[in-house]
Order: sequence, then structure tokens, then C-alpha cells
Amino acid sequence: KLNAMRRTTTTTLTVAVKCRPLTLKDRGRNIVRVIGSKEVLVLDPDLSKDYLDRVQNRTKEKKYCFDQAFGPECSNSDLYDKCILSTIAGVVQGLNATVFAYGSTGSGKTYTMVGTQEDPGLMVLSLNTIFDLIKMDSSSDDFDVSCSYLEVYNEVIYDLLEKSSGHLELREDPIRGIVVAGLRSIKVNSTDRILELLNLGNSRRKTESTEANNTSSRSHAVLEILVKRKQKNRYQNQVMQGKLALVDLAGSERASETNNCGKKLRDGANINRSLLALANCINALGKNHKKGLAYVPYRNSKLTRILKDGLSGNSRTVMVATVSPADNQYHHTVNTLKYADRAK
Ligand code: ADP
Ligand code: MG
Repeated sequence: KLNAMRRTTTTTLTVAVKCRPLTLKDRGRNIVRVIGSKEVLVLDPDLSKDYLDRVQNRTKEKKYCFDQAFGPECSNSDLYDKCILSTIAGVVQGLNATVFAYGSTGSGKTYTMVGTQEDPGLMVLSLNTIFDLIKMDSSSDDFDVSCSYLEVYNEVIYDLLEKSSGHLELREDPIRGIVVAGLRSIKVNSTDRILELLNLGNSRRKTESTEANNTSSRSHAVLEILVKRKQKNRYQNQVMQGKLALVDLAGSERASETNNCGKKLRDGANINRSLLALANCINALGKNHKKGLAYVPYRNSKLTRILKDGLSGNSRTVMVATVSPADNQYHHTVNTLKYADRAK
């Protein structure tokens, strides 16, 4: 039995855990094997860190602690309201932020980030808020919102907004910092077509059948929303720019668990490289918060280089660890909770 609970402090890194409901597929599997489907995860928002420390050595239950925990009954907007909403105002004011979904394949990362018509995901909800805030803005500033959507697959960058994208390169621009050369950026004025656009982009993501999963998503998808605010006052024309990166990470199941060789193994190794690099950056950021500046190793992967602006300085970072409640996913769930727990 696993316990996930809420942590009480707030920092620039927020870690949330989201447990999806059991799906028909989960139940089907268990019925076929004639084992009753059990939920192995208990989300306990009322237990505190003190309690955790006191009972840690006295029980066989494993306990992990997070800023927020969301059970199967929670919608994407429940998570959004508690963990993301407050960050978006900052983006419209010119701050950077990064939100990523981490978890094994089938744990609900894409559902959380993209969502459905009935339960729109964090990408859609964030854009909604951005447009609402711009509408409500009482200044005479001009706003300009644009989006790009890319994937990092096997340490190569592809444009998900292009029908058949070639390899894209990272460049260091003296003013704009790290940019993806040739990446398509589209202006958006409303969220009307966003879900459609994201689904189309997702259909272009590279998926590869592995022995662990039929449609294991082996790529990281990054939606970047850029909000430019042109201040028009009497003395100057100043442009402020806030960047929000929303990342649907590749499945976190480890390459060692999939009995592959050749190309697929290299994919696994590279995915681990990006995930590992991200983990190391997040760890270093956590240390920075606790005891001053530690070196943050952004340069170690394409993903961390792309995300650098949104992970450093004044940026806010939200990590959503997605887990399945099904007993056959127990080991993935433990790995995800451990990773998320270590992030802080
Ligand atoms: P991942 O992207 O991590 O591989 P998905 O987001 O594709 O996982 O989710 C796996 C399956 O679980 C999908 O069929 C998805 O529709 C379903 N699912 C995930 N989260 C939820 C949820 N909160 N409510 C209902 N169905 C969900
Ligand atoms: Mg997915």
C-alpha cells in the first residue's frame, strides 16, 4: 500500500501527484487473469510531514510526500486551479514557467496535458487563462500570444506543427538565448482550435512498439506559449516577454525493463538521458532553494537546454507526477513517486 500526501511548504518548485481512475482496459486485463482489480494507491491530503517522519519506521506502508495530491475523482481543472492558475498571471507579467507531466506510459500524462473536450488539459486551460487575463487587462498594452509545439525524440528535435518536419537544431542567440532554429510559431487569438491543433501534433509524435507497451510514447512533447506584452507609455516602448513551457514527457519506464536491443535500446538510453538530465536539474534547483546556488547542469540534454529559461531565475516549475491505481502498475507507481519525492 502506498500513501501520497500533501506537503505544507510552498516554493518555486511545486510537486503534485495525480492518480488516474481505473480504465476499462485495466479491468479487462484483470478479469482475463481472474484477479480482482485493486487500487493500490491511497491519497491522503490530511496527513502532515510530521506524521510521516514519526511513522516512517513503524509501518510497512511506503509513504511519499508532495505539495498536492489528486485522486481518480479529480478533474484536470481541479489540478489546474490548485497548482497552475496562480503561475499564469506571472507569465502575462513577463515571467517564465514550466509545467511537466512525468510518469510511465499509460499513467495519464497526455490526458493531463492535452485532455478531452469534456475535461480539457493543462495546455488548453493555461491558454484560456492567458486570454482571460489579457481581456481583463486595464492597461493600454498590446499583447501578442504565440505557440510552438515540438518533440524531442532520440535527442533530435522535430516540429509537431509541421506535416513532415526535418531535424531542427538548437542555436544560442545572443539576445533571445537558446532557440530552436526554424521552429514554426503560430499566433493564437483564442483557444478555439487549440485542442484540434494539439491532437494533430500528437498524431505526428513518434511512437514505437516496445515489449513493455504497445504504443509506448518514446518522445517528449513541448508546447511553448510565448506572451509578448508591448508597453506603450509616453517615454518608451518596452516589450516584456513571458514564456510558459508545458511538457508531456516520454514514458518514464526504464529501458532496462524493456528487453530491447539495437535502435529501440538507443531510444531508451536517450530518453533516460533527457529524463536523467531533467531530474538532475530539478534536484539542483531544489538545493538552490535550500542553501544558495548550486550548479544546474542544463547542458546535458536537448530537453534541458530547451527548457533552461523556464527552469532558472525567477521561473516557477510545476511537476505533475502521474500514476495509475492498478496493481499491475505497482512498480511504475513506486518509481514515479520516488522520483517525484526526490525532486524536492
Ligand atoms: P500517457 O500519456 O501517460 O501514456 P494517457 O494520457 O494516454 O497516458 O492515458 C492512458 C489512458 O488512461 C487513456 O486511455 C486515457 O484516456 C485514460 N485516462 C488517463 N487519465 C484519465 C482520467 N483522469 N480520466 C479518465 N481517463 C483517463
Ligand atoms: Mg501520452
